[in-house]
Amino acid sequence: MVTKLPFPETCSLALMDAVVAERANGPNANYFNGISAEWRSRIETYIAEHGNPESVPRWPAIHVNRTRFHTLYNTPQEHHSQYPILKGLRDRKFQFCPSCGEEGSPSTIDHYLPKEIYPHFSVTPVNLTPMCDACQTAKGEGTLDENGRRIFLHPYFDEFLTSQVVRLTIGRPFNAPEDFALGPVEDLDPNLAALVRRHIRGLHMEERYGAFFRDEYMRLLHLSQEARDLGLDIAEDIPRFLRLHRKKAVNLWPHIFYTAVIADDELMEHLRNGDLPENL
Ligand SMILES: [Zn+2]
Repeated sequence: MVTKLPFPETCSLALMDAVVAERANGPNANYFNGISAEWRSRIETYIAEHGNPESVPRWPAIHVNRTRFHTLYNTPQEHHSQYPILKGLRDRKFQFCPSCGEEGSPSTIDHYLPKEIYPHFSVTPVNLTPMCDACQTAKGEGTLDENGRRIFLHPYFDEFLTSQVVRLTIGRPFNAPEDFALGPVEDLDPNLAALVRRHIRGLHMEERYGAFFRDEYMRLLHLSQEARDLGLDIAEDIPRFLRLHRKKAVNLWPHIFYTAVIADDELMEHLRNGDLPENL
């Protein structure tokens, strides 16, 4: 699930100024000089509004020229200011996708506000977040739902992501649970809880998490049987599994899984003393 990331080191406004200055003697000088004041003000609005598409307006007047902005992102030359900054953003190494919590280094950069809709944020560092391929495919150019509410959490601006925000509920029966339901943690502010629900739905999280949780669950049944065979108590092991995963990040899939196991008293009792499936 989503994890709070530190802001990119580069100032988004300073980079924009540098991009405009570099074009002062080129064929696009008039264009970028003409829009620079408004471009700057729109980046300021982005930062002030935390990139929220509910309150960051689009800029229809520049759409006819959106390729000029896309080119800054798609084909920068090495001597251009944005080149090392984009490279630096791509080279950052994470152990998980900050948008879904899947382990593994995310391979792409996502435009939180999509560059097709907001071309002027194509090279705005606070709009560029690391993301895995599965998230990027699911997110596409999504910004707002049918009610005009933003769909996705923002890894740079949503401060509450430093805590666990997603809760798993493990279904029954114990030896072959039929569903693994994801939702916001119980004590979350109602508006943030609704946002977390939209994010889960928008990135198809339940479908994507399902196989992982099933495999993890079967491993846990197996470990429970093993503990019994050795005369050990699985209830002493599970908090250790939880702490191990918490060290990475609280919204990663295994941490969410073990939090759910520990919170489920009936399941814990089953793992200790219930009838486990044969042939584990
Ligand atoms: Zn992801």
